[in-house]
Amino acid sequence: MSDFSDLYQDLILDHQKSPRNFGDLPEANHHADGFNPLCGDKITLSLKTDEKGIIQDIRFKGSGCAISKASASMMTMALKGKKTEEAEKIFTQFHDMVMGKEGAKTTELGKLKVFAGVREYPARVKCASLAWHTMEAALHDEKNVVSTDDGSTP
Ligand code: ZN
Repeated sequence: MSDFSDLYQDLILDHQKSPRNFGDLPEANHHADGFNPLCGDKITLSLKTDEKGIIQDIRFKGSGCAISKASASMMTMALKGKKTEEAEKIFTQFHDMVMGKEGAKTTELGKLKVFAGVREYPARVKCASLAWHTMEAALHDEKNVVSTDDGSTP
């Protein structure tokens, strides 16, 4: 992991130690569970959207490695107050970035750009993207547990 930047290391450690928006959200109207069997990362995501489609609140619970936790924590910070269409756009940019897609745009990512380094580590891509796939499932009210090992995710 020596070629990961110091900023990346600092952010991951900070969010792992004190995850933001961690816990239950009783008034949530969207939920989803995600699981990354390759690493053992688990996440439960709760979202509260209003009638205009704005994400009023978003929280996560779960257990897993530092990258999965930090990614979930930073995702909740990035998406709170955003419209669901914006959330989907950020998801697409994040996904393209960690997959190392040619010409990937990062205009909406802000601090999330620190995760660009995970593309060098295919197993870690799933850790970093688990929260995002779970968020996508929650917005679409999917009832099945999102697994990073079903072939439909990186
Ligand atoms: Zn992991």
